Amino acid sequence: MLNKSIKESEDVLFKLGHELAHAYDKDRGFDFTSTSLGGLPSSEINGVRFENYLRAQDGESRMRLNYTFGGTNYNLRSSFDGNSAGYFNSYIAPLGRNEVYKRISPINQFNPNIDNTYVRKPVLYRVYDTKKKSFVSFD
Ligand SMILES: [Zn+2]
Repeated sequence: MLNKSIKESEDVLFKLGHELAHAYDKDRGFDFTSTSLGGLPSSEINGVRFENYLRAQDGESRMRLNYTFGGTNYNLRSSFDGNSAGYFNSYIAPLGRNEVYKRISPINQFNPNIDNTYVRKPVLYRVYDTKKKSFVSFD
């Protein structure tokens, strides 16, 4: 990548992100046989969505809204609820099979022996696997 411009290098990173989205789908048990828009593998929509998330996070204003598969160019506009960088910027990775968000309310602390301060701990949300009965670690 040394001879490439910064722009070209970023494009490569967006493409890598697209492939990582596929790995994420595979890891989460996404159904790779499902298709959208009359023949496009649905996993490609997830890949482009994540690509656009990376573009938006990087400050780009132009999002990718098409994908060519099997010689057909698919317009993805109808696959997303929005087409703007702001829309893709707010993308949250979808939950996998058996996963739900669980609210964790840490016990607030009172420090009478130190300085009498009352420490309110923030509520946390974590991904919980209902089959394994444990929180999902992203470490
Ligand atoms: Zn792909």
